[in-house]
Amino acid sequence: MPSIESQLADLRARSLFRKLREVTSPQGTTIRCDGKALTNFSSNDYLGLANEPWLREAAKHAIDEFGVGAGASRLVCGNLSAHAHLEKKLAAFKRTEAALTFSSGYATAVGTLQALLGKDDIVILDKLCHASLIDGARASGAIIRVFPHHKLDALESHLRWARTTQAQDARVLVCTESVFSMDGDRAPLAEIVEMKNRFGAMLMLDEAHAVGVFGKNGRGLADELGLADQVEVQMGTLGKAFGVSGGYIAGSRHLIELLVNRARPLIYSTAPPPALAATSAAVIDFLMTDAGEQRRQLLTENLRLFSENVSAAILRPRGVQSAIIPVMIGNEDAALAAAQWLQEEGFLIPAIRFPTVALGTARLRVTISASHTTEQINRLCESLGRLAKRLSG
Ligand SMILES: *Cc1c(COP(=O)(O)O)cnc(C)c1O
Repeated sequence: MPSIESQLADLRARSLFRKLREVTSPQGTTIRCDGKALTNFSSNDYLGLANEPWLREAAKHAIDEFGVGAGASRLVCGNLSAHAHLEKKLAAFKRTEAALTFSSGYATAVGTLQALLGKDDIVILDKLCHASLIDGARASGAIIRVFPHHKLDALESHLRWARTTQAQDARVLVCTESVFSMDGDRAPLAEIVEMKNRFGAMLMLDEAHAVGVFGKNGRGLADELGLADQVEVQMGTLGKAFGVSGGYIAGSRHLIELLVNRARPLIYSTAPPPALAATSAAVIDFLMTDAGEQRRQLLTENLRLFSENVSAAILRPRGVQSAIIPVMIGNEDAALAAAQWLQEEGFLIPAIRFPTVALGTARLRVTISASHTTEQINRLCESLGRLAKRLSG
C-alpha cells in the first residue's frame, strides 16, 4: 500500500479528490454552502419536505414523547412504538403484508442481501446498481453475475445459466433499481418482472429515487406500472423524497421475519431515533392526502418546465425520465470545471465522478424538486444553455 500522502496526491492528480463542503443553512432550494448562497439543484429532497415547518413540529413533538435515543438495538429494547407504528403505515402504504425499517438505505441494502443470500445462491445485478446493492451482494458471499445496463438479453442468459447451474434449493435473485441514481433513467420493469417470473427467480427492486415521485400517492414506479405485487423484495429510502432518514423493505410477513432474524445491520446496531420514525410516519400521512398528491404534481410540473426550456444538447440522449437529469461531461477534470463554472453562476450542482460512476463518464447530476420556483428553473436552463455552448465550442 502506498503512503496516505501519495494516495491523496494520486487522487488530486486524477481530478478524483473529494472534500466535504459545509452547509450552514437548512436543506432547501437555496442553501448557504461554504459561506455562499447558492441555488441548489443537487438534493434528493424531491418534494421539498426536509425543512417543512409542520414536519419540524412533528419531529419536535415526537422528541417530547419518545426522547432522542432508542437505547439499544431493535431486538433488545430499542423497538419503540414509533418504529412499529411507522412499519404498519409503510406496509399499508406499499400494500404489502409487512415492512421493516433500517437506519439508512445503505444498511437496508446490505442487510437484506446478506440475510437473503448465501454462498450457493446467485444474485444478478444491473451494472449500474448503487454501491449499497453491490456491497450487499458481495457481503452475502453469493455468486454474483452482472448484466450491462438494461441489457435484457444478457439478463436472460444469466437467468438461463443460473437455472442450469444452481444447487438444489439455491435462491436466484435479480436486483435492480426502478430509477437509477446517477443516470435518472427507468428500468424496463415489465420485461424484468416477466423474465424473473419465467425463470422462477425473485426480484429485489430499489425504489430509492422513485418512492414519493412515481405511482399513486408516491408508492413508486412498480406501483405506477401495476407490477408491485410481483416484486418480492421492495426497497426504498426515507432520506430522499421523504426528506427524513432511513430505509425500508416492504414484502411478505415471512420475508420480514427472516430479515428480523438475519439482517446484521438491524440486529447489531442501535435502533434509529424514534423521532425520525415518527417523522417518516407523518410523511406517509401527508403523501396519502390530496395536499400530498398536489405536491407530487408540482414536481411533475417543474420537470415539464425544465424539459421544455432546457437546451436539447443537455438532455441527450434520454430526455427527462425522473427527477434526476445527468448532464454528461466525460472527463473528470472537465466535469469539475463545469461544476465550478455553474457555482460562479450561483448554482450548486457538484461533479459526480469515479468511483460513483465509471471513469470517463463524469457528469453533473441535476435534480429537480417540487419546491423550485419557475424563476429558479428558468435561470438554470439559461445557464445550462450557455454551458452546452461552452462544452461544444
Ligand atoms: C441513496 C441510495 C441508497 C442509500 O440510501 P441512504 O438512505 O442514503 O443510505 C440506496 N440505493 C440507492 C439507489 C440510492 O440512491
